Amino acid sequence: MPVVAWVAAGGCVSQGPASGHGLIPGADWSSVRLVDLTHAFGGETIVWPTEQEFRLVIQQAGETEEGYYYASNRIEMPEHGGTHIDAPIHFSRGGRTVDQIPLEELVGPAVRVDVRSRCADDRDYRMTIQDFVRWEAEHGRIPDRAIVLVETGYGRFWPSRERYLGTEQRGRNGVKALRFPGLHPEAAQWLVRERRVRAVGIDTASIDYGQSTTFETHVTLLSHQVPVFENLANLDRLPDRDFSVIALPMKIAGGSGGPLRIVAVLPVRSKP
Ligand SMILES: [Zn+2]
Repeated sequence: MPVVAWVAAGGCVSQGPASGHGLIPGADWSSVRLVDLTHAFGGETIVWPTEQEFRLVIQQAGETEEGYYYASNRIEMPEHGGTHIDAPIHFSRGGRTVDQIPLEELVGPAVRVDVRSRCADDRDYRMTIQDFVRWEAEHGRIPDRAIVLVETGYGRFWPSRERYLGTEQRGRNGVKALRFPGLHPEAAQWLVRERRVRAVGIDTASIDYGQSTTFETHVTLLSHQVPVFENLANLDRLPDRDFSVIALPMKIAGGSGGPLRIVAVLPVRSKP
């Protein structure tokens, strides 16, 4: 299906004749709803324990001598802090840098796979192939080339570092103390081989679980040119399927990742 058709339908092409009319050009935006999956960047932005904090440095804010108001800031931040994308080169030598990822890889039909109940009492939970098989038994097959969003429920802990990351420690000791769920490398393999996923996102700080030391899930996805979205917000406001995602990172030349504005496009009537 062409991109314009699924965006038009808010991903709900299976739901009848109202869907499928091209949104672009001549979009009927009144038939869709947007959900922002992005945490705002600011003083509370959670970054990896070894990274520098996000900083907004106010340079100008006030009336000028010429009589107009003028505000202008500088930002300082790591590529991989807050809601961001991992470009393939992040864990794969020779992989695409963030500016080289084709736009077509960043927008598409999406599903939300809810594993909140498994992660609630197990901070080290790694999502398995079985979780996806179970999801498909209930909701139907994950479409090929979908964007798969994994909901651990940890997004609700933001911006508490203690609850979200499992530790407030910084530096290398902070990395060792990370405790949050992620995606098992075997499940990542399955998504790549069996469902040819377009991209994978998660509402934690890393697609590998916090205790990972080898980052096999990153390696698996990124070595297959599958971008990863991390620190996603508001996944609880999505339906399980029949929506689309538009994920547009800052186009940093040579970047291994970068800040990401990511939104879901839903049919107006969809729940929740
Ligand atoms: Zn990252």
